[in-house]
Amino acid sequence: MVKSNGVDGGGRLFSSQRSADCLHPAPSTVATLRARLRDAGAGARHEALALRAWMRGEPLAAGSRNPATAYPARMLAALPALQAELDRLVRVHSEHPGQDGSVRLLLGLADGQSIESVLLPRGGVCVSTQVGCAVGCVFCMTGRDGLARQLGSAEIVAQVALARARGPLRRVVFMGMGEPAHNLDAVLEAIDCLGTAGGYNHKNLVFSTVGDRRVFERLPRGAVRPALALSLHTTKPALRAELLPRAPRIDPAELVELAQDYARVTTYPVQYQWTLIEGVNDGDDELESLVRLLAGRYAVMNFIPWNPVEGLPWRRPSRERAAAMARHLHRHGVLAKLRRSAGQDVEGGCGQLRARRLAAAP
Ligand code: SF4
Repeated sequence: MVKSNGVDGGGRLFSSQRSADCLHPAPSTVATLRARLRDAGAGARHEALALRAWMRGEPLAAGSRNPATAYPARMLAALPALQAELDRLVRVHSEHPGQDGSVRLLLGLADGQSIESVLLPRGGVCVSTQVGCAVGCVFCMTGRDGLARQLGSAEIVAQVALARARGPLRRVVFMGMGEPAHNLDAVLEAIDCLGTAGGYNHKNLVFSTVGDRRVFERLPRGAVRPALALSLHTTKPALRAELLPRAPRIDPAELVELAQDYARVTTYPVQYQWTLIEGVNDGDDELESLVRLLAGRYAVMNFIPWNPVEGLPWRRPSRERAAAMARHLHRHGVLAKLRRSAGQDVEGGCGQLRARRLAAAP
């Protein structure tokens, strides 16, 4: 078995494990998967059927009731090997049920890297878009170790297929490890695939970002326009630069304007994410600025009390303070919710399962 990394025809990273009887790289991008199907004689309809089956968590050949007559013989012969390669894209290392009904999954990739996905209550999945993350948010475990590599679009969709194989799924949020804006081509390719062949409603595909001009330029031009979640965390530019050290330096007030422009295009509210840290961004001054920025806008503010991470100095505000902040916004015309980070009773927040696995590695 030979492990290799490289760049596919679309200029994207792939990683693969090759064996003597498999000359192709694992299809870590959807484009590569489509090309492999075409190479095997699939027409556009066959390709769509196979992709849909995959995204339903079913075998590729299950796209038709009668594959023997529905698919070309050469394609049928190629499907088992292709299926085996897709199954290797993400594999469950361990699973960790939370008290809130979520299940945090530690997933292994074909090249030995690992990522996390979270099966959310009520038919959702939170997927990773990168191995690690370069933004370096000071309150996040994933950000501490930087970026290891990009995920290919097929590795992103494979997390959805894996979740779908375990039960009904209607919502996909791109809020796991990584900053989607830093892997934009792959994430948009995954979204396009899920929103077309996969049949997911665009409002149930949630693109989460710290805010990047490329996102605001490209999302409105997409054939599938996902809902937007913007990680704001503070209204103060200097504090934001401290909390999110490698996020693009865009004033939070401008970020809100850019996000609201997109909300007008999609006619769907922007979800603003705000990790609440005691004494850092839970003050009345932040509330006043938020009312100024968001009152009467097409917006939902999600306050998420910080999830303790071993070795980090922060604390979360009391439940009462967090609830009072949400109530204050509500009273002043801003729809606000107090949320928990899914599965936070299991190894805390995003990245902690992976960090533990890396620490345990020989
Ligand atoms: S919070 Fe998100 S953007 Fe920030 S470092 Fe963690 S994964 Fe990256």
